Order: sequence, then C-alpha cells, then structure tokens
Amino acid sequence: MPGRAPGSDGQTDLFSEVRSPLARRRELSVACGKNVSLRITRNRRTMASVAEECGGVKVSVHRAFLNAPERVWNALGAWIRSRRPEDWAPVRQYALSIRSDASRGAVPALRAAGTARDLRLLADEVNREHFRGRLRYRVGWGRNGQSTGRRRSIRFGSCDTERSVIRIHPALDSESVPVEFLKYILYHEMLHLVVPPEVQSGRCLRHPPAFRALERRYPGYDRMAKIGKDLLCRRAAVGVSPVIS
Ligand SMILES: [Zn+2]
Repeated sequence: MPGRAPGSDGQTDLFSEVRSPLARRRELSVACGKNVSLRITRNRRTMASVAEECGGVKVSVHRAFLNAPERVWNALGAWIRSRRPEDWAPVRQYALSIRSDASRGAVPALRAAGTARDLRLLADEVNREHFRGRLRYRVGWGRNGQSTGRRRSIRFGSCDTERSVIRIHPALDSESVPVEFLKYILYHEMLHLVVPPEVQSGRCLRHPPAFRALERRYPGYDRMAKIGKDLLCRRAAVGVSPVIS
C-alpha cells in the first residue's frame, strides 16, 4: 500500500479507509449495482464468501476485514460485479495475511486497567488522534514473565491482526515509562491492523516499507525511538532487552 501525504488535520488518508460495516455495505452495493447484505463473522475457515441470494448478494467477511485497506474492499466490490479471478486475488491474499496460527483458540481475558496506566483510555486517544477513531480492537496488558528464554528479550507490544487484539508488555505499566511512549507503542501495534504483512521474495515482511513509512510519521518519532533505546539500556542491566513486534 503506498504511503500518502498526511491530510491537513495531520491524519493520513489511509486511516479514513477504515469504515463502518454499514458504510461498507453501501459501498459494495454501489460497486456491484446489487443489493448487498454484509455479515461480519468470526469464521476463520472461510474468511470471505459471496453468495447470490434472492434479489441481491450476501457477503460474509471475517471481522478482521473491517480494518482491511481500501484496495481490498475495492477488489471485493469488483469481484462481486465481474467474478474475474484477478479481482478475487487481493481478497484472498489479505485473508491469508491476517490468518495466523497464533490466533487459534479463545482470547484470554484482557485487562486494560493497569496499576499506573489504563490502556483502553490511551488506545482510544491514539485511535482518535491518528485513526479518526475508526479502528476496532481490544487491548490489554500481557502476562508477566513473557521474556523468551534464550533470547532474554521482551516484546513491548504485539498485535493479533486476525482477532484485532493488542497486548502491551506489563513492564510498561509504570510511572517511569512516559505516557507518550506508551501511546507510540500502541500506535505501532494499531498500524498492524491497517497495514497487513507483505510477501516479498518468498519472505513475509511483518513491517513492510509502507508500515515503516507510516510509523516514521508519528509525532516525535526519533524521540520515541530514543526513549525505547533508553528503556532497552535500563532493561539490559538485568539482561533483558525489549522488542517491538
Ligand atoms: Zn510491529
């Protein structure tokens, strides 16, 4: 997905692409000239399907599609109209990119309120400030003891794009971690919801160039990177280094 210039209000056009199911249904109806009913599912086996029904078209998509880029929705509309395989390809590719083995099973209960910071409040602020308030997600603190054995590293945050679940490492639930840095980490994880991984030369890039370009647009990006490094140094003193994924 090409990066675009930020809008006059500092938000990028990209983020205006995240629309409500009702708006998507209307757009699909216009795109294919038929009456579309849109069903949002949790069906990870069939992540997108289209069926003709009496007087219209029934479209079912996994809920992760609500965060899909515009080109994916355009392709879906084109496919309903034309049934050309090349129009279905981007839809299929997106479905594959967001489906991960890590998403199997139920989501454990998420705890957003920490001892020092409330992730729900901060994430909603980031959503309003950078995504026009249109991203859908659940957010919570990860479990303690997530450092991974031999690598002795911790992840600042993680994003399960299929289930739109964001987790932040509990080490960041501290008065000593600046709120602005926590919001930057949330922004990074939320970007994963709008910029899916890309496959290049057979390798899956979780942070493709389009992702990095948008990440660098975050206000005070260089300062945030430095705060991250400082935290890394502090943690290094106890043999643990943070990772943003
Ligand atoms: Zn990441």
